[in-house]
Amino acid sequence: PAKTMDELVSLCKRRGFIFQGSEIYGGMQGAYDYGPLGIELKNNLKAAWWRSMVYERDDVEGLDAAIIQNKNVYKYSGHEDTFTDPMVDCHECKSRMRADHMKDIKVCDNCGSTNVTEPRDFNLMFKTNVGPMVNEESYTYLRPETAQGIFTNFKNVVDSTSRALPFGIAQIGKSFRNEITPRNFIFRVREFEQMELEFFCKPGEDEKWHEFWVGARKQWWLDQGLAEENIEFEYVTGDDLAHYSKSTVDILYKFPHGFEELEGVANRTDYDLGSHTKAQEEFGLSAKVKKNEHSTAKLAIRDLEANKWEVPFCIEPSAGLDRGLLAVMTEAYTEEELPNGSTRTVLKFKPHLAPIKVAIMPLKKNKPEIVALAKELKNKLQKLGLGRILYENTGNVGKGYRRHDEVGTPICVTVDFDSIEKEGAPVTVRDRDTMEQIVVPAADLPAYVINYFIN
Ligand code: ATP
Repeated sequence: PAKTMDELVSLCKRRGFIFQGSEIYGGMQGAYDYGPLGIELKNNLKAAWWRSMVYERDDVEGLDAAIIQNKNVYKYSGHEDTFTDPMVDCHECKSRMRADHMKDIKVCDNCGSTNVTEPRDFNLMFKTNVGPMVNEESYTYLRPETAQGIFTNFKNVVDSTSRALPFGIAQIGKSFRNEITPRNFIFRVREFEQMELEFFCKPGEDEKWHEFWVGARKQWWLDQGLAEENIEFEYVTGDDLAHYSKSTVDILYKFPHGFEELEGVANRTDYDLGSHTKAQEEFGLSAKVKKNEHSTAKLAIRDLEANKWEVPFCIEPSAGLDRGLLAVMTEAYTEEELPNGSTRTVLKFKPHLAPIKVAIMPLKKNKPEIVALAKELKNKLQKLGLGRILYENTGNVGKGYRRHDEVGTPICVTVDFDSIEKEGAPVTVRDRDTMEQIVVPAADLPAYVINYFIN
């Protein structure tokens, strides 16, 4: 794995994974842009999550709610009142910082001075104005988590799918938080993507499902290539527990800057649906909620056995896509010493995450028959639907291998003179991890590639 963030940042920029946002204007703190390879990696990680959360289960539905919502959503979710971090100002160097890691004596992160203010609450939501009239009522917020869109659509999903408990709703999308101190590359940013599942169950079955999802989510991260020894659980307790949570387990990963949260799995009880439902008094809610004077929908489900309406409990595995991508890159980053004494950098991505699946390289860039066969193979492989297949005509195969090691392309295929002269059109297939080369007849290449990526 990568030892420092710097080596990752530099590879990401050099090869087109991630760039500083607004770079040509001097940058913008806490905002990053994903380049040609970064977007492929991101899409592959999202697709893997969606496959495992929605397609491979029969009790989860998908959703894509709006980022901008009625401000009452945040009034009743509790974000308007409590979505804050403690902040201190330094009188000496004038910087501002989060104070939740500071103990009794507060020390400036920047200059070490103890001449700092008392902590005060800073709300992390971005406020924005909606419509052409700017007045006291015309504001709302950019969503600070995707979850609220799931709760507000609970009735729509139940009514349109006839779901009964237990079942879940999954969503991937952007979230925004005005972090006081964004840092550590894409680890803590102001605009990021989350992959969230809200899994609804009967009260009393919540603890069993919480335990299930903690285990399932850890296994998923292992399936994305993270090593067991680089994952830890943290049981969140006391003051660190969010106001809505009965218990939370954070899944931590060993990032270059240390073990930090990758995903949180929270037991949110009946807090959220109970907060957003109308007729709260009918349900005997277990969570303490603000009285709702605006909701028009009953966010409850009929328990047929008991013949009554019930607000379900909810288990939430909430993962950061950007943090996930950083974890996967950290883990994949490998520097290897080769027998000839040189070193190579390889990103050992799991095949399903690799931004480029196969690179096809003609040995000679101006030999028409070689070029034609290489292009034909590219088109054939592209149609398999595995992801990006790159036809790359630079005429320098050695350099191509090095570049594709560095961006984690699992397979390189070279088309050479043998391929156009010999019977069966043999092409050379080179493996990223072993660097072994084998010869495969061109007609067998699609089957070979499918077998490699599907197994
Ligand atoms: P932290 O304590 O690190 O601020 P959090 O506990 O506030 O995180 P949650 O509200 O549980 O985070 O959000 C769920 C997930 O969303 C996190 O596990 C993380 O992967 C991701 N996430 C949250 N805030 C950010 C951010 N500022 N930048 C990138 N990802 C984030």
